[in-house]
Amino acid sequence: VPRVVVIGAGIVGCSLADEFTGRGWTDVTVLDRGPLFAAGGSSSHAPGLVFQTNPSKTLAEFARYTIGKLGGLELDGAPVFRPVGGLEVATTPERWADLARRHGLATSWGIEARLVDPGECARLHPLLDPGAVLGGLHVPSDGLAHAVPAGEAQARRAIDRGARFLARHRVTGVAEEHGRVSGVHTDQGFVPADVVVCAAGFWGPDVGGLAGLTVPLQPLAHQYATTAPVPALAGAVQEISAPILRHQDADLYYREHGDRIGIGSYGHRPMPVSAQDAEEHANSCLPFTPDDFADAWKQSLVLLPGLAETEVSAGINGVFSFTPDGMPLLGEHRDLPGFWVAEAVWVTHSAGVAKALAEWLVEGQPRTDVHECDLHRFVDVQLSPEYVAARGAQQFVEVYDVVHPLAPAAVLRSLRTSPFFPRQQELGAVLGEAGGWERPLWFEANAPLAEGLDLPPRDAWAARWWSPTVAAEALATRDRVALYDITPLTRIEVTGPGACDFLQRLTTNDVARPAGRVTYTLLLDAAGGIRSDLTVARLEEQRFQVGANGPLDLDWFRQHAPDDGSVQLRDTTAGTCGIGLWGPRSRDVLQSLTGTEVSHAAFGYFRARELFVGGVPVTALRVSYVGELGWELYTDAATGLRLWDVLWEAGHAHGMVAAGRRAFDSLRLEKGYRAWGVDMTTEHDPVEAGLEFAVRRGKGDFVGKEALDRRPHDRRLACLTLDDPATTVLGREPVRVGGTPVGYVTSAGFGYTIGRSIAYAWLPASLAEPGRAVTIDWFGEPVAATVAAEPPVDPSGARMRC
Ligand code: FAD
Repeated sequence: VPRVVVIGAGIVGCSLADEFTGRGWTDVTVLDRGPLFAAGGSSSHAPGLVFQTNPSKTLAEFARYTIGKLGGLELDGAPVFRPVGGLEVATTPERWADLARRHGLATSWGIEARLVDPGECARLHPLLDPGAVLGGLHVPSDGLAHAVPAGEAQARRAIDRGARFLARHRVTGVAEEHGRVSGVHTDQGFVPADVVVCAAGFWGPDVGGLAGLTVPLQPLAHQYATTAPVPALAGAVQEISAPILRHQDADLYYREHGDRIGIGSYGHRPMPVSAQDAEEHANSCLPFTPDDFADAWKQSLVLLPGLAETEVSAGINGVFSFTPDGMPLLGEHRDLPGFWVAEAVWVTHSAGVAKALAEWLVEGQPRTDVHECDLHRFVDVQLSPEYVAARGAQQFVEVYDVVHPLAPAAVLRSLRTSPFFPRQQELGAVLGEAGGWERPLWFEANAPLAEGLDLPPRDAWAARWWSPTVAAEALATRDRVALYDITPLTRIEVTGPGACDFLQRLTTNDVARPAGRVTYTLLLDAAGGIRSDLTVARLEEQRFQVGANGPLDLDWFRQHAPDDGSVQLRDTTAGTCGIGLWGPRSRDVLQSLTGTEVSHAAFGYFRARELFVGGVPVTALRVSYVGELGWELYTDAATGLRLWDVLWEAGHAHGMVAAGRRAFDSLRLEKGYRAWGVDMTTEHDPVEAGLEFAVRRGKGDFVGKEALDRRPHDRRLACLTLDDPATTVLGREPVRVGGTPVGYVTSAGFGYTIGRSIAYAWLPASLAEPGRAVTIDWFGEPVAATVAAEPPVDPSGARMRC
């Protein structure tokens, strides 16, 4: 049994001790520099509201697990969780519509919820003025966690199984031996360990720093105030009965404290806290600043008029963590094996996070897909203090906003641009962002092409971050030819005498093919779940170019690479750039720029070659993510602009356009190409995802092979088409059969070639046969859809193999 040290006895540290010891890892020592169990971190001040509904399926699952676990725990006979229900109210039509959307999210993730009218809101909450709201979303299983007792109850259980909790032990250093963590230094001496988990709350960056690790979170203060007794609540001293309440239009939330009301506000200016501030305020509270609370109080009197009879009697500016994307930080230090973090975790998600991390360590991987929470999801440029501060503060500002799922980040942009960026700007690129890259969504220069198009109407929500120009770009790709900037797609070069064997062992398809071949393949985890999907181009006997999904793929490669020097890995994304030249005229364009023959006979489908295009050295792969004839063309970043220019000039005669990400998404949905992380994750296997063609069981052993055969394969990623062309969905909506929720949409968009919307959805295998009628919830209304045969466009692939 490994010796585990957990740094921090907040709700996360306590929960980790419980989850580790519950799995037989009983040699656990939890260290906290504070007293136990109100140790002075954020958990000591958290009012403990647990709202489960979240756009992230992972976070919703973490919350559900937390409620299930805490709901069954007591401390000295008192429950540590009260299932008082959660009520989110709307005071604007926009919010009311959003609550219907959130009702859909809850349904997708298996959380029972209902929309209620103002009268029902007032019946549920004794102080609420029904005249102030348009309605609410009620989740009966939400509730209130008493964070300190909840931590202590889990700690006691862990102690019974052998764990130790040591108060007043400040960790001052992290020790390393033979390239692994070997323990921690504290102000009370050295504590040896095989595994160290940093659960130090918003001090995570400091503790991570002791191990040379950047922990990208920003501590911010958040106001929480309590009133004096509220006369209207007299008699409620013993029992908490009202649901926890959110008034997001005013950035506020409420809970009862007996006959008092607690009010939390995100409406004030962001108040970042520096490491020094945090050090001075070791109890994680800054003094209350009443001026910042004035508006919160005014708004509260409107919603809860009974508060006029009382006043604010106490308040704090309590500190906790915000990450650049609002998600927790989980995982192992890349350069110091054995050093793990569980940071930026709300009370709401604490037990679920602890379970996932314990599974990860004890069983080798978490059962829940955690890629959105992975510590290493950020690239270097996203780890700067400026970035973490600006994006963290923006998360605070937006925490209760109605955020459109396609809205790009509002602050600190233009971190990474491809060499084509100046040309894209000249063409009026409307920009989105992913992984720090600026990515054109569409080009205003193409707007005139959309003028004659007869497109069905889109409602206001679906029309955000969309333009009719998207249709023009998609159709131009199907009819003529388009340039797509594919620079942001991660590229990994794998070289060396062991490269081929390494990729064979790691991936599902047969990549041991002659140089010049390209293979679509999958990475599975040990449980047979889909870890990523890749295109592997064998450029030379010992040199492969791998098209991957992001930095986590490189991590996976590094973890599995032999340490005998036979394989070298290099992320070439930033030093290179790529253009998708796709469409039926792409060959004409390419041939006009190169002396190498690019006919189907000379340069076949799924082949790779190095050639000159307009004098630019290019690695060309004959593959297409949009389902048309075409090539991915890669060159050095330095020659990229020239490549764009020569293609642009040659393309003019063929009606070429530059096209953006939205057209790309529409075309790939029409072709049934899955997007990893959205359509499929480690929770799904290739059979379920419709990707069995990429699994060659006969090729020999590969990671996940054995487990794959043991999986039940009882779900399917189904292709739905929406019956009415004027309807659209965007993803994460629940799918129903006969009114009963049976699954959820992954990605969706309008298919301009087929003239209707397409939605991919996870359904039970028994309900996924083509022709089945289903409905999708769209802002509370059922939208009719039908399971379609796949893919909707060009099922034979003739358009690409010509
Ligand atoms: P913490 O509770 O901060 O624990 C970290 C521990 O690490 C501390 O005890 C600290 O002493 C210890 N530590 C730090 N450095 C060292 C060191 N070098 N050596 C030893 N020990 C160290 N979340 C919700 O889900 N719902 C809510 O309603 C809610 N409301 C909130 C309201 C307020 C005012 C605040 C401040 C937070 C709120 N949160 C809420 C957020 C939630 O409290 C935190 O996200 C959560 O408590 C973090 O738990 P933790 O265990 O990670 O961190």
